[in-house]
Amino acid sequence: MKYSLYFLVGLSFFMYGFSPNKSDKFTIDKATANKVNELLSKMTLEEKIGQMTQITLQVVSKTEGTKDQKHEMDWDKLKEAITKYHVGSILNVYNVAHDLDYWNELISEIRNLSLKETRLGIPIIYGIDAIHGATYTKNATLFPQSINMAASWNRDVVTKIAEITSVETKASGIPWNFYPVMDIGRQPLWPRLWETFGEDVYLVSEMGVAYINGAQGNDFSEYNKLATCLKHFVGYSFPINGRDRTPAWISERMLREYFLPPFEAGIKAGSPTIMINSGEVDGIPTHSDYYLLTEVLRNELEFEGFVVSDWEDIKRLYDRDRVASSPKDAVRMAVMAGVDMSMVPMDYSFYNLLLELVNEGTVPIKRIDEAVYRILAVKYKLGLFDNQSVEDKLKNEFATPKSNEINLLAATESIILTKNEKNLLPLSKGKKVFVTGPTANMLSVMNGGWTITWQGNEELLYPQEELTVLEAIEKKIGKENVKYAQGTDFNNLLDIEKGLSEARDADVVILCLGEPAYCESPGNINNLELDETQINYAREIASTGKPIILVMLQGRPRLINKIASQMNSIIIGFLPGMKGGEAIAEIIFGDANPSAKLPITYPKYPNGNTTYDYKPIEKFDVNNYDPQWEFGYGLSYSKFEYKNLVLDKKVMGKDEVLQISIDIKNNSRREGKEVVQLYICDLFGSVSRPNKQLKGFEKINLLPEETKTVHFKITADDLSFIGRDNKRIIEQGEFEVIIDSFRERFTLTD
Ligand code: BGC
Repeated sequence: MKYSLYFLVGLSFFMYGFSPNKSDKFTIDKATANKVNELLSKMTLEEKIGQMTQITLQVVSKTEGTKDQKHEMDWDKLKEAITKYHVGSILNVYNVAHDLDYWNELISEIRNLSLKETRLGIPIIYGIDAIHGATYTKNATLFPQSINMAASWNRDVVTKIAEITSVETKASGIPWNFYPVMDIGRQPLWPRLWETFGEDVYLVSEMGVAYINGAQGNDFSEYNKLATCLKHFVGYSFPINGRDRTPAWISERMLREYFLPPFEAGIKAGSPTIMINSGEVDGIPTHSDYYLLTEVLRNELEFEGFVVSDWEDIKRLYDRDRVASSPKDAVRMAVMAGVDMSMVPMDYSFYNLLLELVNEGTVPIKRIDEAVYRILAVKYKLGLFDNQSVEDKLKNEFATPKSNEINLLAATESIILTKNEKNLLPLSKGKKVFVTGPTANMLSVMNGGWTITWQGNEELLYPQEELTVLEAIEKKIGKENVKYAQGTDFNNLLDIEKGLSEARDADVVILCLGEPAYCESPGNINNLELDETQINYAREIASTGKPIILVMLQGRPRLINKIASQMNSIIIGFLPGMKGGEAIAEIIFGDANPSAKLPITYPKYPNGNTTYDYKPIEKFDVNNYDPQWEFGYGLSYSKFEYKNLVLDKKVMGKDEVLQISIDIKNNSRREGKEVVQLYICDLFGSVSRPNKQLKGFEKINLLPEETKTVHFKITADDLSFIGRDNKRIIEQGEFEVIIDSFRERFTLTD
């Protein structure tokens, strides 16, 4: 029953488990403002516009770095960039990871040039995509990708990973990380799905905030911390056709309900920079969207840091989207919409055109001052003006055995067991196994894009001492117990006969399928189904009648419905990182107990893309919600029993807090971790209400036979949603708390 009384709660929302302190938000304090204003008053227009210009390292390099050739800087070009064009920022690498010492040499030269050879000594801010570790630094600790970190449902592990990534990125001399991705992953075809923390607003917000907390600590100018960058504001992750950088159609209500809240959470957690969506929403390329970049981001969300464009996206307003009538018009549109820094990044066109625009009075100097003020404030707050050099202790903290240990733990907690017929797993170590398939003996398939190179697919550049799934299994049970034949490539059958004969001779087959590494548009696909070749290979192997453990290494949920029933156990590994092979072996042979849960709905059919928080009409009459596996699903070797769901009240006033508790018992002889998930269902509402919505979770460890009580709190804000007038509201009425198979009702009143 819905009551007609609404409470407006504005834009703000609140999530249990994360209550960001207002002071955590990045703000420009008085002392910083004074310093910035003083500097601004001395700057020429050229110097100001230079600060708004970001170029890639390629522009100032002589040779690209490859496996056979060392990268070489073009110092004259660098000097020109800094002294003639006054560039404020440099990003990325030419083509390949550098070692720690080389990075330090490079960054300190750049810093020295900008501090000592420019009129005002304004430091460069160097930025990089250290999205699952220090991507472009050789031998860095490379963790599971975001989709896996979300699958761990473990905030502490995410915070720890962020801490280590900051140390290793900063040890490379780099103080700015283009991460975390706060886009929500609700389009499984999208080749960047694995860069997200999954499909749910709450889970994405919680994981993003856990990351920011670890990466920035209380003060991101600390020697071992860095500045994060929320991306890609906003709506990038929902291309209607599933291809990267294609249109999203997102209504105002949907935008505010699903896409904005994670960014709001990231802003409240203190991220000082934001990168813009490379695509378009409702026909408006986001780089030209004044409403989103200024009215929403600045006026409503009160973001005080600076906004950086994505790669070449200002130019694309003209040469791709044709909303600007010339390259110059594109610069005007983007700057006036609210972009503060342009990732140009291959030339100085932005600099030249913006200079013209200001000189001719088309772009007011006020807007330039505003942008530069924000950029300089972040530089001050990062401590870049103090001639920082990498402290030796940071180098000693790079890729330590402890970091490796945490990486293995993170990987183990991020790999999902979705099927385990007749408890085939864990396997005893005495078994003869046959390992096969295209992802069994490669490191790149476990790491994905942004690993050593952009696409992450240069297998030969991977550290050879790290273990593939095959090598980890050989190490675990002895080479003599393992046979291997690749059998098939990703889309090309190799040797079926060999595969069949080895399968017949083995006790168990470990079949590793999935996707090669990819990133951004090169990862576009036409069909979410797993490639026919791999499906056919799996069917052939299944025809031997041997038990099969299917391991899927992939960046998105490739459909396996056609073979799932023939597989005895299924492990969804996604992209578990450099320790993925070891983690999978630990799980298969029972040295680790799986505890991950799906952070997305795993679809069964090509047209069955329905998220867990579907609307009533999606499961009505002939419509059905029928995924392969639900969001939040994942098995353990332990058996957990849920008991005693208790709500402290049946009727809750809008200013009251509902206290919820539930007991979980480990009814097995194995220690294990369980993710206790709290969902709310709003029974009736003026806007159709989702099936259920995640509002809290806790990951707990339980010894054999141990029982723990988990407590949650729900406030009226947790029950809010975007109403018919596109404003956040709270409606009185009946709600259901859902934990495991328990459902308990309560009523919200005035
Ligand atoms: C990606 C961003 C990334 C940037 C810099 C772009 O192509 O969309 O996510 O941060 O490149 O590497």
